Amino acid sequence: MDTLWQAELNDSFTDTNAFLAYLELNPEHFGDLRGALEMFPFKVPKPYADRIQKGNSEDPLLLQVLPLALELEQREGYSKDPVGDLLSLASRSILQKYHARVLLISTGACAIHCRYCFRREFPYSEMALTKSIESAAIEEIRNNPSIEEVILSGGDPLSLSDERLRRLLTEISDISKITRIRIHTRLPIVVPNRITDALIETLGSLRPRVVMVIHSNHARELDQHVQAALQKLALIGITLLNQSVLLKSINDSATALSELSERLFECHTLPYYLHMLDKVEGSHHFDVEEQDAQALMEALRNRLPGYLVPKLVREIAGEPSKTPMA
Ligand SMILES: *Cc1c(COP(=O)(O)O)cnc(C)c1O
Ligand code: SF4
Repeated sequence: MDTLWQAELNDSFTDTNAFLAYLELNPEHFGDLRGALEMFPFKVPKPYADRIQKGNSEDPLLLQVLPLALELEQREGYSKDPVGDLLSLASRSILQKYHARVLLISTGACAIHCRYCFRREFPYSEMALTKSIESAAIEEIRNNPSIEEVILSGGDPLSLSDERLRRLLTEISDISKITRIRIHTRLPIVVPNRITDALIETLGSLRPRVVMVIHSNHARELDQHVQAALQKLALIGITLLNQSVLLKSINDSATALSELSERLFECHTLPYYLHMLDKVEGSHHFDVEEQDAQALMEALRNRLPGYLVPKLVREIAGEPSKTPMA
């Protein structure tokens, strides 16, 4: 039987007309979206849709998920694999680009489809973590002496069931050289009911320190349900960090970014990275100029305590870390 969060995920909007009608917006206003939908399908769970203001076609949450005909326009400098993940795919489902930490692609499924995402062109669905691939990945981590931190990424690792996650996390935890387990996920933001008691129990029982990096781009995403979910994680001693993407017309103002940092802190979470957009085809309308991004960072430094200022970074293929921009 589905748990509540699984039912909420299965009940996601996948039809833009139904979604726009729910938000009291006129689909005709947005034109023909079929081409954009073919490139990257539409998916938004109701708990997220309910945070979008009805009748507001400029809502910063809406703009992150709504397909636009504009996505089909080709732009110079945009490609299908802007961060070089395809090149670094040393073996299926494992990605090591940086020192001592390895990314384990734990599933193909995301809870929501964010239009700016660099993974929109990445064949994650072909990389779903079957049990045999999972065992091979664990074996590889065990046999590579340089790895100290395992990062579960995806897709969204929290779209795996609690049982599956418990098995996977316990296996990683049993490798003694692993000192940190990190989970990169947008699920606590999108469907806060995902933070179940069973998940809390698993996370609380692991030997390595657990870091959860959530992904929120706007203070309005962090309602009281999200806050309660994050509080549960904080109470068992999990380190909570947030990464955002700097997105035109969504969070590219000093006010939006400082409200986000302050709201994150109320939710027990520190800002970590603010990413410059990865230039993936179909996302050009979200791009913020580097100069404007740097000016925003200066405004943030002047307004916020240092610990609430995220690091502005860009991911450059082939570099040994994310590249600082300010
Ligand atoms: C971003 C990223 C990491 C994590 O980098 P940190 O700077 O440690 O947050 C690890 N592996 C890959 C492939 C990444 O893209
Ligand atoms: S990987 Fe993250 S940003 Fe990309 S679509 Fe999935 S949830 Fe959104």
